[in-house]
Amino acid sequence: MQTPVKVTLEEYMESRAEWLRERTVSWPTTGEMSCVDCGERIRAEAVELELHKKSYDGCQGDGDEMETGVPYCPGCEEQPAKRGCVHV
Ligand SMILES: [Zn+2]
Ligand SMILES: [Zn+2]
Repeated sequence: MQTPVKVTLEEYMESRAEWLRERTVSWPTTGEMSCVDCGERIRAEAVELELHKKSYDGCQGDGDEMETGVPYCPGCEEQPAKRGCVHV
């Protein structure tokens, strides 16, 4: 999946859960996940998300950030951007 930009934290968590549910097959024995389309092993890219204020228009915050692992398939997707933002 792609690094979130201008979505709420809840939306990001939801779309991440949905992505994992719809795009991956997990193997309980090894704890690994594979892509449903190409079978590549899913990777997680460590990205920084700026925390922007929901109450403001556009992208503004206090400079706070959080780190998150954005899952993606190296077989069918571009590597997620290193930075994004969520609005909280
Ligand atoms: Zn794939
Ligand atoms: Zn933003």
